[in-house]
Amino acid sequence: MTRPATIATGADEPILSVSNLTKDFVMRGGLFGWSPVRTVKAVGGVSFQLAKGETLGLVGESGCGKSTLGRCLLRLIDPTSGDVSFKGTNLATLPAEEMRKFRRHLQIVFQDPLASLHPRMRIRDIIAEPLRLIGVTGAPALARAAELLDLVRLAPEHGGRYPHELSGGQRQRVGIARALALDPEVLVLDEPVSALDVSVQAGILNLLEELQQKLGIAYVFIAHDLAVVRHVSDRVAVMYLGKIVEIGEAAQIYRAPAHPYTKALLSAVPLPDPDAERARRRITLTGDVPSPLNVPSGCPFRTRCWKAQDICATVVPELEAIEPGLQAACHFPERGENRAGVADSATGQVTA
Ligand code: ATP
Repeated sequence: MTRPATIATGADEPILSVSNLTKDFVMRGGLFGWSPVRTVKAVGGVSFQLAKGETLGLVGESGCGKSTLGRCLLRLIDPTSGDVSFKGTNLATLPAEEMRKFRRHLQIVFQDPLASLHPRMRIRDIIAEPLRLIGVTGAPALARAAELLDLVRLAPEHGGRYPHELSGGQRQRVGIARALALDPEVLVLDEPVSALDVSVQAGILNLLEELQQKLGIAYVFIAHDLAVVRHVSDRVAVMYLGKIVEIGEAAQIYRAPAHPYTKALLSAVPLPDPDAERARRRITLTGDVPSPLNVPSGCPFRTRCWKAQDICATVVPELEAIEPGLQAACHFPERGENRAGVADSATGQVTA
């Protein structure tokens, strides 16, 4: 999000450090579970760092593992391997009892506020619920709920209503208030505005920005919409089939992406400048995203990549520095002039 230069970025002491995180879903088929076991490789070795008060946008097509990664960070589901270090403590291996103490520091806001709010509880009780879990009840809990309502710009009378009596935007404000109840330092926002009308989205994004500036929280902002992520992120990580294929400063990625996949994704985003928009040429990727049950050897993107060569089928590309602040996992990243601007990229299969 737009902020003074003094706010930390990924280069500073991380509040969260994720190292080689994987999540496999093992599925047993057949009536009695006798069919061969199949493994969905939802997250395939992800590493990144998050600094205090920064926003990391996590983007990629549906099914690439964004939500699974987000849930692993909070241990809502257990990672298969890897580390999630929060201020030096590895959450990935903490016993459940210990993890409960840390959960208050990392919270999540879900896409669909209605589904995540108890329909028969009043808003003030929903917001105060996390407080009860740490033994805060009665007047102090209600006072804190009132404070949180105000923080997310809801009126005191909203506290007495039920979720179905609020608009979609108001319900998402309740979801945010509840997530903030225990003063977390990291908030995972899983598609927080995707279910909302465009007219309402801006209000929620502005609120998130205001809260971040006020409270210094770090956000992992999950979205498939690159236009939304552009406006909220300090850095962006692009995921494909469970891996981060490019990560860097948002401005760098949007100006000149290095990974062919990022370039293709960005070529689909309308540009605000009318001249640039007229010149924009869309890179259409051929084929579907391969199944995470059967991830291609080597580079996961190679089956759809117009630059793929023999090495891409045999050697997994690691994230490597393209320039300070930008890394891409590609054997043939865009460099030099080819990286400049998405609008003039004609290297892929281009349509009008
Ligand atoms: P979307 O944007 O559609 O929510 P995503 O990028 O968040 O997608 P995930 O929901 O993390 O992707 O899913 C990643 C992969 O893991 C998908 O192939 C999905 O089908 C699979 N998956 C997710 N949860 C489970 C589960 N509980 N059991 C088996 N497979 C799962």
